[in-house]
Amino acid sequence: MPGSPSTATAAVAVGPAAPAPDWHLRDAHDLAREHGVDPAVGLRDAQVSERAARHGPNELAQSTGRGVLSLVLDQFRDFMIVVLIAAAVISGLIGDVVDTVVILVIVVLNAAVGAVQAWRADRAVAALRRLAAAQATVVRGGQVRQVPARELVPGDIVLVEAGNQVPADLRLIEIAQLKVDESALTGESVTVGKHAGVLTGALHSLGDRLNMAFKGTTVTHGRGRGLVVATGMGSELGKVAGLLEQGPDLGTPLQKRLAAFGRRLALAVLGICAIIFVAGVLRGESPMLMVLTAVSLAVAAIPEALPAVVTVLLALGARRMVAVNALVRRLPSVETLGSVTTICSDKTGTLTENRMQVDTLVLGDGSEWSPGARPLPPSEAGLLRALALCNDAAPAAGGAWRGDPTETALLALAEAAGHSKAACDRQCPRVFELPFDAERKRMTTVHRIAGGHVAYTKGAPETVIPLCADPGPDGAPRQVWLARAEAMAARGLRVLALAQRVHERLPAVSAGVEALEKNLALIGLVGLIDPPRAEAAAAVRECMAAGITPVMITGDHPATARAIALRLGLVADAQAPVITGADLASLDDEALMERVRHVHVYARVDPAQKIRIVQALQAHGEFVAMTGDGVNDAPALKRADIGVAMGRGGTDVAREASSLVLLDDNFATIVAAVREGRRIYDNIRKFVRYAMTGNSGEIWVIFLAPLLGLPIPLLPIHILWVNLVTDGLPGLALAAEPAERGVMQRPPRPPGESLFAAGMWQHIVAVGLLLAGLCIAVQAWALSTGHAHWQTMVFTVLTFGQMAHVLAIRSETEALWRQGLRSNMPLLGAVLLTFGLQLATIYVPVLNPVFKTAPLTAAELALCITAAAVVWIAVEMEKAWRRRALRRIAGADPEP
Ligand code: ATP
Repeated sequence: MPGSPSTATAAVAVGPAAPAPDWHLRDAHDLAREHGVDPAVGLRDAQVSERAARHGPNELAQSTGRGVLSLVLDQFRDFMIVVLIAAAVISGLIGDVVDTVVILVIVVLNAAVGAVQAWRADRAVAALRRLAAAQATVVRGGQVRQVPARELVPGDIVLVEAGNQVPADLRLIEIAQLKVDESALTGESVTVGKHAGVLTGALHSLGDRLNMAFKGTTVTHGRGRGLVVATGMGSELGKVAGLLEQGPDLGTPLQKRLAAFGRRLALAVLGICAIIFVAGVLRGESPMLMVLTAVSLAVAAIPEALPAVVTVLLALGARRMVAVNALVRRLPSVETLGSVTTICSDKTGTLTENRMQVDTLVLGDGSEWSPGARPLPPSEAGLLRALALCNDAAPAAGGAWRGDPTETALLALAEAAGHSKAACDRQCPRVFELPFDAERKRMTTVHRIAGGHVAYTKGAPETVIPLCADPGPDGAPRQVWLARAEAMAARGLRVLALAQRVHERLPAVSAGVEALEKNLALIGLVGLIDPPRAEAAAAVRECMAAGITPVMITGDHPATARAIALRLGLVADAQAPVITGADLASLDDEALMERVRHVHVYARVDPAQKIRIVQALQAHGEFVAMTGDGVNDAPALKRADIGVAMGRGGTDVAREASSLVLLDDNFATIVAAVREGRRIYDNIRKFVRYAMTGNSGEIWVIFLAPLLGLPIPLLPIHILWVNLVTDGLPGLALAAEPAERGVMQRPPRPPGESLFAAGMWQHIVAVGLLLAGLCIAVQAWALSTGHAHWQTMVFTVLTFGQMAHVLAIRSETEALWRQGLRSNMPLLGAVLLTFGLQLATIYVPVLNPVFKTAPLTAAELALCITAAAVVWIAVEMEKAWRRRALRRIAGADPEP
């Protein structure tokens, strides 16, 4: 149909006011024909690119990122900056123009640094958003493919299943038990059952269009195939998107706390500046100079940039996390990851490889069979056919299969034995199904055969065997079959039971779906191996060393779960307690709280029960990360402190509910993310420690020197310059600081702990005082010995002292010489550059009148460097003291 306008094409272009199109009144196959597509084959690539060019991407129009100009202007919104500019201009008008120009240049440079930081943060956040973009399953050129949802075009044939977010507006072509939660669009939070028929009558609200699935809604049950009729802004969601208000971005908890703290600190700083101004004027200084000094100090010392810098550190950290396959969906979780005390993880695919392989079959006569041993007896053809038919795996490119690894493994066995799925499906077409659901732990498919229908049921043995006739096919009672399943599970196998029933006439719909799963004939058992991931055992050990308890919560059998937990070192012995879903149902909250601390394995747990485990752990003050992949996992993922979804196997619903997505579905990735989270938090602390100590030093110098009878040691330009060069590059280079040694050998940080805990406050005040003391001592000595360059010397000590400080606080405990200067090259570069810039202000002749400096003699410069070195030595001594204290605590601890 390319080129010919269609109902859909016309509708895509209509604006919000146009009447809703009538796709629901049309036959799906007719519509598909109009779109030039065969629902079984999908569009060809040429059709797709032509339509993509015509319709544009399937996405909602988004406000573009902040422009450079608005980022720069943002920097001038700060009240104190405005006061500074005003004061500088006034002082220029009445006196020193050079001074004014220099101040303005520094202010602009400062704004540029701030704008670059904001721009980097915006870019990093946008990149994360792109990575988190949704995927869609389409049929194109006869193959099932996974493509980014934004690449869908009208005419595409899309497959959706439980857990998917509907990627575009679809006219449904076929469905199986499809239920959709449309609350995102209609506000109604009940799920709606869908069908593929034609509706009649004229008026249908969106909620009544049962043969349509709308973009942005989520599939909660079943599956369906639909024709894309509208994309992007042409979709119903697109039409209302303009009406949806985006909530204001209030920042992460840490940013909020820092902003609140900053406001309080600003008041204190303003108070001090006022005192400095009044004292200066009383001493006879020029009022204009005192205004500029006080305002410059306020600009330099008020930490208004802290929240912004925290965003940069978090966003850059989040970008690094992608490199270890952890995609952060909510920035605040980067800062809280380091506090995780318990990681509750699924088993299949997270702790294990999810590379299933059939290991053992128990045949109808009770005998065991393993692949490779001997060919399967011809009498078992029915079993193989059942494996191929009661199976949702679909062909994918390159002769591979797409689908749940359990199912592809079963299919691999059937196909290898000559039972192709395509042929089986042709001979016995599927007419009905009860899809697999993690709560029922089984699925049933009904197929047409000569003379009637056959229904196949496969699922967890305890849910399937009780539905079967007693005794089983070999005459052994059901109990024996259950024991056989149990024995296979104890070997670490994932076990499924397979059963069938031939219906001459299918039960009436009124008999309920359960009628299909009654009086079944057991066919046999299948045991699959799913080896533990090679890296999982090491990750479990790393967790334990880091004071984090790993817990397995699985839908699988308790014996399978325990066997795998034992192999991974999650539990120490084969008698370790396991709580099952049934146990959970019988335990009240109090009893569960009692047990939850000593249990590391939960089996046969329904997703809905996970939330109780999270709550019980949280009631003990645990900070819980929990993994999940299914629709029903969403409440627990939201409730957990860090919800973790699977990027490969997981559903869109689970991803939406989580703050972290594992791109490789791997448990070890959670541990890597926690390690990264700890590093980033440490670095935020380092930045705050560094910047605030510098500010504290600047305030003390200006405040104390006059009290000691000395002239004000620094000019406004000096204060602004020191602030520019010290806060800018070296501060940001702290983001590149590698994780401290032993970062995963210390207990998790309490989540509510203040950023200033563990002696940081004291450090900020004491080292600030030391820095100021050194400046004042140099000033006093220089004045008393007649050195004319005393102001340049104080200016230089203040800059160099901060460089020495930033090098010393790279670790909270480790000495700089053990860390090595080269372990953070960006920081070393920033320090050397700042050092060079400072020398330039002193030794480049044209800069002397600008900065009111004078070249220092070698001895004077050496004195400045020595004073700065004192800061470094003092902080190294503080760290040595802290190391000793930590060793003492570790020594006193009976279980180090
Ligand atoms: P985890 O929660 O750790 O990912 P899981 O994948 O084993 O564990 P579920 O997917 O909920 O958990 O499966 C629970 C049980 O349902 C399995 O142990 C198995 O017996 C049965 N089962 C799993 N997949 C299928 C399937 N495709 N068809 C029939 N039964 C299945």
